[in-house]
Amino acid sequence: MNQSRMCKTRNTVQRALILETVRDLKSHVSADEVHAIVSRTHPTISRGTVYRNLSKLAQEGVIAKHSMPNGPDRFDYNVSNHYHAVCENCGKIVDIEMSCLDGIENKVDNTHGYSLSGFDLVFKGLCPDCMAKGGKDNG
Ligand SMILES: [Zn+2]
Ligand SMILES: [Zn+2]
Repeated sequence: MNQSRMCKTRNTVQRALILETVRDLKSHVSADEVHAIVSRTHPTISRGTVYRNLSKLAQEGVIAKHSMPNGPDRFDYNVSNHYHAVCENCGKIVDIEMSCLDGIENKVDNTHGYSLSGFDLVFKGLCPDCMAKGGKDNG
């Protein structure tokens, strides 16, 4: 009894810590990045714990999870409906300000019988930093 209670408390602490990290960063982080940051202060937290908590938080809608075309899923503190631009050179992701395309899923010719729940819209290009450096870091 006691042990499961302790375990539950520990899980809650870890979950809060992981959520706080995503919110504090105010950016779009991969599970590995969250783990790297959390483990600086809490070296005992395993990568698996971070992954599990992130997916659970995303499932619950506390944070958002975005699938990126070339890279790991990103977790977003901003759960409102918004879009992203990714830098093809350094991989930095930013939020795009634009009016949301309401009901875009209804405009899809759904010939495959899927029940659509949403989409990830990602614009690609170069961020200002990489443009200033003249594009690709091909060294
Ligand atoms: Zn860049
Ligand atoms: Zn975002």
